[in-house]
Amino acid sequence: MTEISAEYAAQLDTQDELAAFRQRFLVDDPSLIYLDGNSLGRMPLAAAEMVRKATQDQWGSRLVRAWPEGWVGLSRRLGAKIAQLIGADEDEVIVCDSTSVNLFKLVSAAIEYQCMGKSCAPVVVTDDMNFPTDLYVMQGCTKSYGAELRVIESKDGMSPDTDGIVVSMAHGLALLSLTHVAFKSGALHDMQRLTSAAHKMGALALWDLSHSVGAVPLNLRNCDVDLAVGCTYKYLNGGPGSPAFLYVRRDLQQKLENPICGWFGERAPFDFRLKYEPAYDIGRFLAGTPPILSMVGIEAGVDLLLEAGIDRLREKSIRQTEYLISLFDEWLAPLGFTLKSPRVADSRGSHVSIGHPDAWRVDRALIEEMNVIPDFRAPDCIRFGVTPLYTTFTEIREAIERLAQVATEGLHLKYDDERAAVT
Ligand SMILES: *Cc1c(COP(=O)(O)O)cnc(C)c1O
Repeated sequence: MTEISAEYAAQLDTQDELAAFRQRFLVDDPSLIYLDGNSLGRMPLAAAEMVRKATQDQWGSRLVRAWPEGWVGLSRRLGAKIAQLIGADEDEVIVCDSTSVNLFKLVSAAIEYQCMGKSCAPVVVTDDMNFPTDLYVMQGCTKSYGAELRVIESKDGMSPDTDGIVVSMAHGLALLSLTHVAFKSGALHDMQRLTSAAHKMGALALWDLSHSVGAVPLNLRNCDVDLAVGCTYKYLNGGPGSPAFLYVRRDLQQKLENPICGWFGERAPFDFRLKYEPAYDIGRFLAGTPPILSMVGIEAGVDLLLEAGIDRLREKSIRQTEYLISLFDEWLAPLGFTLKSPRVADSRGSHVSIGHPDAWRVDRALIEEMNVIPDFRAPDCIRFGVTPLYTTFTEIREAIERLAQVATEGLHLKYDDERAAVT
């Protein structure tokens, strides 16, 4: 049995101690190979049940009484669970708003705290591997505060230039803000080293964990991270548009101010006082009424991750991405595909990007003709998200074999070069 045989993949699946978790998700079309869980995770069966309860039992029967019966505390309760996945304390994380809005809150709060009335250089450092929304929010915030945004270029757009980032930070820097696992290449930043380098310059460090949470072990406490944000609809499987989370280290909570002074972040919202006074704790980073129906499903996905254990998931994710890369070497490299992710597992998150000059059309053909769903990232990347809770070795093998077939048979050539609105 060779490593590229279907029997070998089947054997890896039989030996997989996490295999049973796949049955906890809705898989209504077993022939569909879904490798896009890093963009929108599959639906946990328990999430559908939670949404049903929230609509019928709570909204339907309890009506406004459901607020004190659980809805008001939901942001904190979910935050406390996510805290376990990122190595934070339960009162340091809260679920609310989108990642973009949470970035706006924390970037603004950090610049304001670091620079107002102090001799701080209003400079924010980031890099060009960051996700566009992060860069856009930082562009907006630095403009509002008259600060400077320094975007460090990675050497090849694929692996981070850690030394370059460290060197770019000068004394009095306000904020270092990076995405931990790069959305295109899957490259992993050295959180510990960069956070500590930022602290030496007097800066705060803000990490976007959107592509890391639920995929790689995180320990914000050990890295002494100041601020973080992250998505819940990717590896946490919270559902389309499920609200994001934010983390503020406890000692900073009373020092930082939420630029959106909404009533849910007020000290006593139901006293309806006319003058805003922020809550003393993480609650001050809330803004308005939380979207309960979009939020209730998050718990199901987080519970599954906690049950499986992030270390076991990481171990399987590494075996699966290494397996994918070995199949790439065997089948795809000879066809002109290139590897756009780091080869070393320790430098990689849980997705693998593969480059092709005609990536958009190849991606279309994979979806339309081959029933394989990866995603396309401009200009030339096809991303394969490995989600160890439900991805099988057989699916990975099949996907790569079908990708090779698309290229050998030229199945992509009949597709238009025109890109769709959502990729
Ligand atoms: C997916 C993702 C986001 C998404 O932000 P939203 O405001 O939730 O749309 C932000 N940052 C990173 C790094 C992401 O990967």
